[in-house]
Amino acid sequence: MTAIDAPYDLAVIGGGPAGVATVLAARALQPQWRLLWCRGPETVGRAFLPAYGGSSLVHRLNVPVERMGLDAEAPVDFFDWLRREHPGREVVPGQFVSRRWFGEYLEARLAGVDASSRFGAVDALRKDGDLWRIDLGQDGFDGHGASAPRARRVALCLGMPAGLPMPNAPRHWVSDSWAWWRALPAQGVPLRDNHTVLVVGSGLTAVDMVLGLRERGFRGPIRAVSPGGRWSQAHAPAAPLTPDVREALDEALDEASTARDLLGVLRHFASRHPWRAVIDALRADTNARWAALAPDEQRRVLRHAFGAWNRHRHRMAPDVRAALEADAALSLEPGRIRVDADGRIVKRDRFGETVLDVALALDCRGPGFRAALAGDSLLARLVRDGVLEAHPLGTGVRSPADPSLAVVGAARFGERFETSAVPELRQQAVEALRFFGSVTRAICGVIPA
Ligand SMILES: Cc1cc2nc3c(=O)[nH]c(=O)nc-3n(C[C@H](O)[C@H](O)[C@H](O)COP(=O)(O)OP(=O)(O)OC[C@H]3O[C@@H](n4cnc5c(N)ncnc54)[C@H](O)[C@@H]3O)c2cc1C
Repeated sequence: MTAIDAPYDLAVIGGGPAGVATVLAARALQPQWRLLWCRGPETVGRAFLPAYGGSSLVHRLNVPVERMGLDAEAPVDFFDWLRREHPGREVVPGQFVSRRWFGEYLEARLAGVDASSRFGAVDALRKDGDLWRIDLGQDGFDGHGASAPRARRVALCLGMPAGLPMPNAPRHWVSDSWAWWRALPAQGVPLRDNHTVLVVGSGLTAVDMVLGLRERGFRGPIRAVSPGGRWSQAHAPAAPLTPDVREALDEALDEASTARDLLGVLRHFASRHPWRAVIDALRADTNARWAALAPDEQRRVLRHAFGAWNRHRHRMAPDVRAALEADAALSLEPGRIRVDADGRIVKRDRFGETVLDVALALDCRGPGFRAALAGDSLLARLVRDGVLEAHPLGTGVRSPADPSLAVVGAARFGERFETSAVPELRQQAVEALRFFGSVTRAICGVIPA
């Protein structure tokens, strides 16, 4: 067997922050392992798309700079890196810096890391005896020899599920807003100021599209429409709950076994104490509280409270929120958007249905957790092939039964509730590596199995 055919000790599939964190955790915890890193199909400057590969400084983090480090043991690492490498940026704790800088940090952290990188989509993953065979498809050669390398272990870091396409979408409907944004010419936008732009959604991508259009000089009306009709809340200083309030909150939450009870407790405490502190107090326990709910109650949370939770939990930088509020040509309306059989864009709200006359519609409805396993993604295929088991909610997968396989990040949504932001990803990456290490030691007899 030549060195190039020898199995890797670990293959990391996915080139986003979860993949980077897993590669770094592997190098730190298992320095002797041979590592394969399948970085995915995005080749635009080998960038960290969509969140951290952009070129605009107006697209900002929604987590303070000192909490975005990739090391679970040193969360301030990103902040330290900025201060060390870019003192001129004059970053201070509590700042919500450009996501582009975080992309630069990801790339810098990889410098000198010993892993065999491949670009291109992984088409399939098959167990062949004790080894995983990784089918890289046509794009996966990348000049590195075998297109189906093998590995003893695999960590899947595949990111958020793509949203569902809008049926009958007309030509001026943009399904992938980030791809549209990246394809724009260096200056300006192909719009006139008497054009109206529709932004479908009010989450992170919607905010970025609005900020980006304004940065590019578009002054015309922007209508954002989302079911809740509200932007995310802004960050603001909030002193942590006092120990006795924290204890009372924990006790009340321990008693709550239904979605209604949980929300009732949160509303009660948020009406008496700073609501940001109440939400922040939950963070460490959110996954455990979620897991304690019966599946029907979890469904209720997703149906009735997920939007409100996201608006309060994933807060935006205060000045970003202020810019949205100060924008007189921007509106945010409650409603649902659909496209009718004739390709007309229709808004439905409590007053009825209205056909919208817009020059451009940017689909910013966000990840499609509810249909995460319905499409043709690698994750969906792995479930259909029996490699992974769907979580009963259909929003992601269960932890793999096979100890040589790990899933990191958004694909675990269902089993976990908080599973896509960097603080969760770096923790999961370390857990995956520790788990692989413990299995290896057990098999080798270092620790009794
Ligand atoms: C606009 C936006 C802003 C965000 N801002 C923040 C923030 O400020 N702070 C924060 O903590 N979080 C933020 N998030 C959430 C989260 O940090 C990002 O979504 C982050 O990119 C998730 O990292 P990931 O590696 O799990 O997924 P991704 O970054 O989506 O990476 C997934 C990787 O898997 C690869 N892949 C997929 N399928 C295959 C396949 N078949 N074969 C090979 N590779 C494959 C993709 O090519 C990609 O490289 C933001 C998300 C978005 C969308």
